Amino acid sequence: MRHTADIIIVGAGLAGACAAFTLSRDHQVHVLEANEPASGASGAAAGLVNPFMGRRARPVWRLREALDAVPTILKHADAAGLFPDTGVLRPAVEPDQVEPFQEAADAHPDLATWLSPGAVQKRYPAVRPDRGALYIPHGGAVDVGAMVQALLDAAEARGATVETQAPVLYWRETPNAAVAEVDRGDDTEELRADRVLLALGQGFPPFPELRRLGLSGVKGQTVRVRQPKNLTGTLPPLSGRGYVVPDGDTLVLGSNYNHDFDDLAPDPDATAYIQEKTSKMISNLDEAHVLDETAGVRVKHVDTNEPLLGPLPRRDRLWTFTALGSKGLLTAPHLALHLPTYLHDPTKIPDPVSLHDE
Ligand SMILES: Cc1cc2nc3c(=O)[nH]c(=O)nc-3n(C[C@H](O)[C@H](O)[C@H](O)COP(=O)(O)OP(=O)(O)OC[C@H]3O[C@@H](n4cnc5c(N)ncnc54)[C@H](O)[C@@H]3O)c2cc1C
Repeated sequence: MRHTADIIIVGAGLAGACAAFTLSRDHQVHVLEANEPASGASGAAAGLVNPFMGRRARPVWRLREALDAVPTILKHADAAGLFPDTGVLRPAVEPDQVEPFQEAADAHPDLATWLSPGAVQKRYPAVRPDRGALYIPHGGAVDVGAMVQALLDAAEARGATVETQAPVLYWRETPNAAVAEVDRGDDTEELRADRVLLALGQGFPPFPELRRLGLSGVKGQTVRVRQPKNLTGTLPPLSGRGYVVPDGDTLVLGSNYNHDFDDLAPDPDATAYIQEKTSKMISNLDEAHVLDETAGVRVKHVDTNEPLLGPLPRRDRLWTFTALGSKGLLTAPHLALHLPTYLHDPTKIPDPVSLHDE
């Protein structure tokens, strides 16, 4: 059995990559990824950083810290350019959204501004609904795959090891070590560390210890289309009925929520549904040429809908970092920035995210 690191991180999605980066500053980190980095939900995400979520624009947990965390972690990893300064526009698609959106702007004037219908039409003529919109200047969108890779590269520059095509089959703890068993093709290998951090995302179902945490998967997909030719003016990332994220001369559209699925393949019906719903924000998206579709599974906690971070029940050395749900960009970077402190003193893990022993 090889002792390879202080901390083995299983999974190189958003959670694993953020953790690898922040922990590698003071620890020897070894990442084991079953496929390639960002091959789970992180590779399907549109990358919207929108802290006022849902129909009623409710602020996310720890609003300000969550919003600051993306630019902060990217800056520390010398990858600030991945998060351009665009803001996010939330058109009020339904009449009953106007009031809660205006209230969000009133309650957080430095983080959100209400734009009248006239102001929206002047600034963003391509945006369809004419009820006004919430503008969130510090939000935006990031290419999640590129972010994961940048964080892993920065972790490697600090001495971390990142292994791909290295599925973990099993884990256990002894009084002195945490052990991960890796599939090496014809054989398996046990690697030993002080701790193992399980950031498996949608890879949780084969493992009863993770299933028992009350996790549930919701499949969704994004659709990349060619930008319609008649689109006028610049467009920030939009979140209204679904979302639209501009990327060069393409737009990434999302998403759908499927609780009952048998496979991970993109679904043509879901593509049609996403194009139809986003065309309520930008005309003709239902006819836009589809370039690509990517599906993934968001993992959420059935009761709290908040992430989980900390030692598994009745374990000291086996930790998990999961259940990022639909808002991984607002939870993973923020929690990862505090992870070195939590690792040193697990009592500091905030209540909504910590795993309590039953
Ligand atoms: C369609 C869609 C759109 C989304 N849009 C947004 C958005 O706009 N903004 C936002 O904030 N969030 C969004 N999300 C949510 C976001 O993608 C997730 O919260 C986040 O990416 C989850 O990251 P993760 O690291 O927990 O999981 P994952 O990305 O699933 O990563 C887990 C990794 O672990 C690896 N793995 C699994 N099992 C093993 C094993 N046994 N051994 C080794 N490695 C293993 C996998 O290969 C994978 O790479 C979206 C999600 C979906 C599906």
